[in-house]
Amino acid sequence: MKRLTSGWVTITLAVAVALPVFAGGTQQTGPLPARGNPQVTAVRLYVFDCGTLQVDPARFRLTKAEVATTNLSVPCFLVAHPKGRLMWDPGAVPDRDWTPTGGEVIHHLVLPDGGERDITLRRPLMTQLAGAGYSPAGITHLAFSHYHWDHTANANAFADATWLVRAVERDAMFAEKPPGVTRPSSYAALKGSRTIIIRSDEYDVFGDATVIMMAAPGHTPGHQVLYVKLPKTGGVVLSGDLYHFPESRTLKRVATFDFDQTQTPVARERIEAFLEKTGARLWIQHDYAGNTRLKKAPEYYE
Ligand SMILES: [Zn+2]
Repeated sequence: MKRLTSGWVTITLAVAVALPVFAGGTQQTGPLPARGNPQVTAVRLYVFDCGTLQVDPARFRLTKAEVATTNLSVPCFLVAHPKGRLMWDPGAVPDRDWTPTGGEVIHHLVLPDGGERDITLRRPLMTQLAGAGYSPAGITHLAFSHYHWDHTANANAFADATWLVRAVERDAMFAEKPPGVTRPSSYAALKGSRTIIIRSDEYDVFGDATVIMMAAPGHTPGHQVLYVKLPKTGGVVLSGDLYHFPESRTLKRVATFDFDQTQTPVARERIEAFLEKTGARLWIQHDYAGNTRLKKAPEYYE
């Protein structure tokens, strides 16, 4: 768990503590707008509602009779740490692509490979982020569990953060012909971002073993999960797409579109062993029922 280029982290923190600027030299008397920089003394985990996907379980080698619901949740996460703030999986549909109504919006999406999806959206990510007291400018680090479109949507909004990415993922994302399940326009701005290329299986984001990215390849070549050690809640592992449904876990089914069908079970075994060893809980990100039970921002886990 060696930090590869700690110099970047220093730079990022220097930016994050920049002083507020007052317009026209007049000090504001009301509450300050969210500067994106609330200082926390212990690790917090925020869950945002980034939509609900309606899917055909056959793509996940499950029948309609085997699953409790054909809905998949799409959460976005923010880890606030005394040393910085990590945005994990910034959504399925960029905020700029839809108009909130206060109710549910069914958004129809056509992917670069021609695939079509319907996703139910409720509140833009930036609105939820601001509601919790953060702004994109205050986010110091950005990472995806993997490069699929439903995990990268608002990436461009965090182009000023340090991007933590595995080489195989970044190479595929910026290849001449990126994988059809990606949406390159959603992350194009990251090409010039400060970037740390992760080469180790485990990467300790803030250097104190509380926030660790762990390799779990198979769904995509550089797929990873995120371990967050919370002082009161205990350990939580954000699954990425290691599993999609809780039934993928109990019935041991691998999605038909996993990049490497043989790697996924191996990665699952490693992560399950880690859960057993540490007592951490697994949050299956796309688990609709499980996600419904989670506290949503501005509430948080600590
Ligand atoms: Zn996904």
